[in-house]
Amino acid sequence: MHDQGPNKNPPSLIPELFPNVALLGEKELLWASSGPFRFSFPGLNSYEGLHHSVFTRKTGTDNRTTGEFDLSFGGGQAGSVVSSLHQVRVTVAASSLVIMRQTHSDQVAALNQVPKQDIVQYECDAVISPFKGVGLLVRTADCQGVLLYDPEANVVAAVHCGWRGAVQNILAKTVETMVREFGSGAGDIRAAIGPSLGPCCGEFKGYRNIFPVEFRDFMGEHSHFDMWAVSCGQLKEAGLREENIEVATLCTKCNTHLFYSYRADKSTGRFGAAIALC
Ligand SMILES: [Zn+2]
Repeated sequence: MHDQGPNKNPPSLIPELFPNVALLGEKELLWASSGPFRFSFPGLNSYEGLHHSVFTRKTGTDNRTTGEFDLSFGGGQAGSVVSSLHQVRVTVAASSLVIMRQTHSDQVAALNQVPKQDIVQYECDAVISPFKGVGLLVRTADCQGVLLYDPEANVVAAVHCGWRGAVQNILAKTVETMVREFGSGAGDIRAAIGPSLGPCCGEFKGYRNIFPVEFRDFMGEHSHFDMWAVSCGQLKEAGLREENIEVATLCTKCNTHLFYSYRADKSTGRFGAAIALC
């Protein structure tokens, strides 16, 4: 018998566990025709009061000739990162852009005034804004960048959610803060989960020591976990409706031509997802 090896391409558990969640492959996402190369989610895109974009690592659609669109301060030159951040800010039509010093914490920042600078950094892993023209950026390489939007309360959030964030349930903490501070109804909130480690590559050998027991519901073979499904479960538990959740089923480690992947390359850049009320 031909051995395909461990978990060559396990499907996501989402269709079975959360049948009403929108699973979006490369073809269903809305790709921009001019650079920086990026896409938007069809659900979020249907709202007029909102700008959002998920950026790839490419400045343009032609992989051979276009440069790297690296939003990390670790690689590249500080000057080019700042210019890329301004491109993100302009793309979501924001006059100021909030970036996060992400530390895999469960710190949620709620903006109470419009930032005075055009680029401002907060130490947190989730940020919420009720202000028009303020962009929120999450930067990732394998971790999930999750965008939230409540069209009724008119508030947006960007969340950095890796496995440590999932263990701390930063998604629920962000939703709770939107409800408490901005009067959101959890059932009104839309969520979009960006490119990140898929069930194909989500191996966590030490899961017994790092994951709560309830994550076992999202475990496949060979210590592989479907972190997309984990997040859908946490969002649903926090009160979101399945049909208000979209997932870009693009695994970063499997698509390093488009996205940065820490597991694939260790020393690597960061791509971003940004959202702003307009
Ligand atoms: Zn993969």
